[in-house]
Amino acid sequence: MSGLSLHIKTESWRAHLRRTVERGPHVVPVAKGNGYGFGLERLAAEAELLGVPALAVGLASEVAQVREAFSGDLVILTPWRGESSRAVEVARDPRVISTVSRLVDLEPLANLGGDHPPRVVFELLTSMKRHGMDAEDARSAAGWEDAVTFEGWTIHLPLLDEGRMAEARRLGRLAQELRPGPIWISHLSAEEANHLAQELGVEVRLRLGTSLWLGDPSSLRTTARVVDLHRVARGERVGYRQRRVARDGWLVVLAGGTAHGVGLVAPSAATTMRSRAIALAEGGLEASGRALSPFTLVGEKRWFLEPPHMQSSLVLLPGDLTPPEVGEEVPVELRLTTATVDDVIDE
Ligand SMILES: *Cc1c(COP(=O)(O)O)cnc(C)c1O
Repeated sequence: MSGLSLHIKTESWRAHLRRTVERGPHVVPVAKGNGYGFGLERLAAEAELLGVPALAVGLASEVAQVREAFSGDLVILTPWRGESSRAVEVARDPRVISTVSRLVDLEPLANLGGDHPPRVVFELLTSMKRHGMDAEDARSAAGWEDAVTFEGWTIHLPLLDEGRMAEARRLGRLAQELRPGPIWISHLSAEEANHLAQELGVEVRLRLGTSLWLGDPSSLRTTARVVDLHRVARGERVGYRQRRVARDGWLVVLAGGTAHGVGLVAPSAATTMRSRAIALAEGGLEASGRALSPFTLVGEKRWFLEPPHMQSSLVLLPGDLTPPEVGEEVPVELRLTTATVDDVIDE
């Protein structure tokens, strides 16, 4: 019996993925972290089906998880650092493209001693001020002609709409003056990225994560299994914290806890008098500090009895409602960029 599941309407999801890739310009899917809820291997397999030439991962440690399922180039988004033995090792892989964000990293990279000079993209510092080289360092980096294999420039823009295109243009022009090559960019629309490619007369590779994998919510659904159900009487003490139940009801034990990221779904705390009154009315609970759960039972989100446990959650349902049966799946709202599901089910 699976617990927390991500159900995919596979055909319509894949149609959305294909449409997104076709909008261009050259889409580079991003598979990092929890794999946007799907897992890294699954995303790598989907990227392979899409036939894209490159896939981006976040960390050097993620390369191994996508390398089998995807046969193209693997770009590591986190800048290369010599202290990381893993980053050093994978930089020698002919399929891997490392990101260089500091001039000082070029020398150790050039001296890695593989069969070929490591493949790299040079990162330009944007207004985000996270990683990247300023114009002067970028100019020097561009001079390292043959010591590394130059694969282009990378620009990571902030999420704001305003001014991002102007910044993309400015940095894109600078890059092309320093050394012509593809521009790998994030957080532009397909239209903007296509524009940029035309304006600069250069190949623009648009990295997409959220809008690709999670961009068609109608083809995705998350559910939690009801794993147990108990009648509870008014005044009875229940849960880890042995709280008293304020009226008769159902204690529903649901799959999904902190280990799945359920505690991270920012359940809105019942801090106002009004929300406490609602909690009391709906859940029959003494409601101080109580939080709305992401589980929908009998048509509504229900209150947590207490904070979620590691792999399950306790939710209270008024006694006059007909509870779901043990084994049934109920809707659960998960933020898929932080959640870990037990199963991904193709439908
Ligand atoms: C994570 C990441 C992306 C993808 O971000 P989304 O917002 O999920 O599309 C793109 N570029 C870089 C550099 C990233 O680190």
